[in-house]
Amino acid sequence: MINNINRRIYREIKKYPTIIIARHIGADPDALGSQFALKEIIKLNFPKKKVYAVGKPSPKFDFMGKLDNVDEIDYDKTLLIVTDTPDLKRIDCPNVNLYKNIIKIDHHPLIDNYAKIEYIDDTSSSACQLIIEFILKNRLKINKKIANNLYVGIVSDTGRFMHDYTSVKTFKLITKLLKKSNINFTSLYAPLYNRPFSEVKFQGYIFDNLTLTENGVAYIKITEDILKEYGVDVSAAGNIISELKYIDKVLIWVFITEDKKNNLIKVNIRSRGPIINKTAEKYNGGGHKYASGAKLTTWNQADDLINDLDNIAKEYETKNKKL
Ligand code: AMP
Repeated sequence: MINNINRRIYREIKKYPTIIIARHIGADPDALGSQFALKEIIKLNFPKKKVYAVGKPSPKFDFMGKLDNVDEIDYDKTLLIVTDTPDLKRIDCPNVNLYKNIIKIDHHPLIDNYAKIEYIDDTSSSACQLIIEFILKNRLKINKKIANNLYVGIVSDTGRFMHDYTSVKTFKLITKLLKKSNINFTSLYAPLYNRPFSEVKFQGYIFDNLTLTENGVAYIKITEDILKEYGVDVSAAGNIISELKYIDKVLIWVFITEDKKNNLIKVNIRSRGPIINKTAEKYNGGGHKYASGAKLTTWNQADDLINDLDNIAKEYETKNKKL
């Protein structure tokens, strides 16, 4: 099945002179890694094709590559490939509905069927892992730039091989990637993890000001004034969220950050037990079972979300006690 779908994707790529590669808004290293790697793979293996990686840049990850501007698009003759994005509304690409052929390569649970080829494997650690499979199944050439981006994407999405869905397959594929490319993978941690001093101070503030509910939900509401005081931007909380795994009594943890520029409140949610993505979907969000996000418009909604999460944490604890 996986063999087959990777061959089908290859055949589609072969047919099109121009290919655009997109991923979700709020790009993270897995989204960017899969996008940039796929662009390079196509350029390296089909040098005559025009390939563009589109979307809004995430300056923090500029070291991974540069995004392209595309002037004119012939939607009939252009293939759109979207990586790491389960839902139509979060594809960071204009006029998605005009493309005649779209391919999705994703590791999130299905939300929207928006592509002709829907390659979804929600047991995969990352979208980058799926791209490694694509390379191997089609015996494609790669270079160091491709391997660097795929490695960074996997390391980042698995939280350095700690999160759920990190599997024997993940390690096997990484080993093959490293052998094939001979990259200096330890040199990639500095650009990926280097962060400003201000963000470390902000982390201190978060840790100091978390509230823990009765049933194990740790949360913090972060206003724009606080972001200003610490000299960080809206995305900073998202960089810190993973630091709270494995804390006694904390089953779910939530950062709720005011984003005045976009007139919304951004939420990062993580769990180490209760399944959170269904709750996130109720609040204009979604994601994985244990890693989700949402977008709110009022602080009242934030309280409702915390309540809902507290309820699922309680249910989870009650069920586990019975077992
Ligand atoms: P984040 O907390 O932003 O790192 O997101 C965690 C996971 O949830 C990622 O897989 C995101 O793609 C997904 N996610 C975040 N925000 C949203 C949203 N508003 N709608 C759907 N999925 C989201």
